[in-house]
Amino acid sequence: MSKEVHTKKYDYLIVGAGIFGSIFAYEAKKRGKKSLVIDKRNHIAGNMYTESIEGINVHKYGAHIFHTNSKNVWDYINQFAEFNRYTNAPVAIYKNELYNLPFNMNTFNKMWGVTTPEQAKSKIEQERKNSKIEKPSNLEEQAISLVGKDIYEKLIKGYTEKQWGRDAKDLPSFIINRLPVRFTYDNNYFNDKYQGIPIGGYTQIIEKMLLDIEVELNVNYFSNREHYDNIAEKIVFTGMIDEYYEYEYGILDYRSLKFEHEKLSVSNYQGNAVVNYTEREIPYTRIIEHKHFEYGDQENTVITKEYPASWSKGDEPYYPINNDKNNELYRKYKELADQEKAVIFGGRLAEYKYYDMHQVIAAALTKVNKEFEE
Ligand code: UDP
Repeated sequence: MSKEVHTKKYDYLIVGAGIFGSIFAYEAKKRGKKSLVIDKRNHIAGNMYTESIEGINVHKYGAHIFHTNSKNVWDYINQFAEFNRYTNAPVAIYKNELYNLPFNMNTFNKMWGVTTPEQAKSKIEQERKNSKIEKPSNLEEQAISLVGKDIYEKLIKGYTEKQWGRDAKDLPSFIINRLPVRFTYDNNYFNDKYQGIPIGGYTQIIEKMLLDIEVELNVNYFSNREHYDNIAEKIVFTGMIDEYYEYEYGILDYRSLKFEHEKLSVSNYQGNAVVNYTEREIPYTRIIEHKHFEYGDQENTVITKEYPASWSKGDEPYYPINNDKNNELYRKYKELADQEKAVIFGGRLAEYKYYDMHQVIAAALTKVNKEFEE
């Protein structure tokens, strides 16, 4: 009796050459499996993609600063690049006033003149009492409870409302919990144990993962679905889950972004990699000066202005909008996904989660272990 014969050309078709798909392809190859990776863009690496311009690694889809608390994830990514000791310490500009982020003693000192943690805490407590919020139920209430009304109004409200295109009262509080609130003079934006930028950019990481793996760029899975569905035993899908199911329950919402990259003939434009513009009237949320991620000493500089944009079907999806309505819709798609025997879903778009890079890596490694039953 013959065993089951596999007739398909590939073991896995991987839709999307971002970090989730590339880790899957790399790990599958290590286990003797053959993958085809396809991407609709003209390059690999998804939104982590960096491109060298004037010798500066430009983060083409927004700043990517690697941080994690997991030694496992840190060791994993360090196989593919050497990381520097970069610590993200953004500054926020509100109508010519400059504040340190995240919210810490430097911010409180600048805002109120307080110098001790006790004074800062009592100022926040007083503002919280005045606002009469007992149990915060949205981003605005959560922010005021954490840092008080003054900081909310100058550093959070305008930024948040332009970033998300909706009122801060209509946003989930978990979004603001991404930022630490600290009663020390420490401007580190992240609390994680490990942090850095890969020396030489992110694209090399994905190149190494995809070494000797077939990659097709500029191709759209949905334009040739029948062909791609028959090419491999299984599919790893990292695109939008609602599109995979032809929007049968409805459309999940996203927020989009537009990036404006500029080369400037100055060596140091803003003195920091990340400067946030928190007032509502300025249409971009932040300016990134890329050379500072790698302590570059080039003659010129490259900056990127990041403009939040509305999203509708066909636009680039960047941020999932995880409110109740969308989470419920996602749950219905997830039920369909859970029944699939030959499709694996993963990444920010397929899981509809506001994932950072380190979380995608952890999720990809979990899926890999499950797939290969390790
Ligand atoms: N945020 C803010 N002011 C800032 C920076 C961030 O109000 O100067 C809020 C805003 O709501 C934003 C959220 O914090 O969406 C998360 O910020 P983060 O920097 O983590 O966002 P990302 O880098 O993923 O866009």
